Amino acid sequence: MDAAAAADPGPGPAPVPRTVRRAVVTGGAGFVGSHLCDRLRAEGTEVVCVDNLLTGSEDNVRARSADPGFTLDVRDVCDPFDVPGPVDLVLHLASPASPYDYARHPVETLRAGAQGTQNALDLARRKGARFLLASTSEVYGDPLVHPQPEGYWGNVNPVGPRSQYDEAKRYAEALTTAYRTTYGVDTVIVRLFNTYGPRMRPKDGRAVPTFVTQALAGEPLTVAGDGSQTRSLCYVDDTVSGILAAATATHPGPVNLGNPVELTILDLARRIRDLCGSDSPLTFVPRPTDDPALRRPDISLARGALGWQPVVDFDKGLALTVDWFSRLA
Ligand code: NAD
Ligand code: UDP
Repeated sequence: MDAAAAADPGPGPAPVPRTVRRAVVTGGAGFVGSHLCDRLRAEGTEVVCVDNLLTGSEDNVRARSADPGFTLDVRDVCDPFDVPGPVDLVLHLASPASPYDYARHPVETLRAGAQGTQNALDLARRKGARFLLASTSEVYGDPLVHPQPEGYWGNVNPVGPRSQYDEAKRYAEALTTAYRTTYGVDTVIVRLFNTYGPRMRPKDGRAVPTFVTQALAGEPLTVAGDGSQTRSLCYVDDTVSGILAAATATHPGPVNLGNPVELTILDLARRIRDLCGSDSPLTFVPRPTDDPALRRPDISLARGALGWQPVVDFDKGLALTVDWFSRLA
């Protein structure tokens, strides 16, 4: 494991160049998207957030409600849409993202990856804007190569319980590539690995919010299988810095954005329980079908081409996350 990676002093948040005066963020009322909107606004970029609130919430952007540089446009990106005025950057994040959400919304997830991506690409094409697709480590499926470099084509079950998400994102990557090669749209694909932090929904089913809410409530932590499967968790501020580094560079990607520090789910549960000062027991529940056994990004490309790497120490990021969840109760 690359234990030193997250502790290295990195280049810090990527500055948004003056040329990004106005950005559209689809899925901007979601977990990652709302942090992205906040960072763009902090850099002085006007933001139009397009979100149908399927898995996001107005609460995530409520702090921006009186901000004249921020607009929330509640709409489904699967229907053709326009944004009046100039746009320099389209950041396409709209899609259910947690396994619980995409299992509940399989058709919506496929449509967001297909029609939603095409409508967002068409917007970028009309506006002459750069386009960023928020893709995912799930395009690698249950990987047979570890850690995962961008050149690995993946191991995805096309009809399994994760297929609606994995194949939607794979199609979205193919469509983005076709718009680049056919229409000359300036595109970049980023493959986000597991991201955690404040504003995750307590009941979105993902490991971090589930374990934190269980530990804070003194309930058993539900570890899937024997907990030996691994993930590599990136704090949301780092993910947002990587997205902006990619958005303001010229590289087309795909480029992995994630934290290479890898840990088992059992270790994650224990660390969260300790951090919460909880005496919750661990309980072992059936592992979901097709749950990837190992996941860790190779971020050589992001380091070299974008000058980006995560900088937030895991324990610090987790403490910030626990603090946020404990204030929800
Ligand atoms: P999220 O569910 O919190 O946010 C997704 C947002 O998209 C929500 O606000 C939702 O309402 C909106 N949305 C969904 N379908 C829409 C539609 N048809 N029209 C308009 N808005 C729609 O999820 P997140 O964790 O913030 O993920 C954001 C993006 O990052 C997703 O594209 C996801 O695939 C990608 N990603 C996230 C992670 C992660 O660990 N969080 C990892 C890999 C990739
Ligand atoms: N997981 C778990 N208990 C839970 C929720 C998730 O053990 O209550 C496991 C899940 O099976 C997977 C890992 O944690 O092995 C990460 O799951 P998550 O949904 O957070 O992310 P993803 O599977 O999309 O990487």
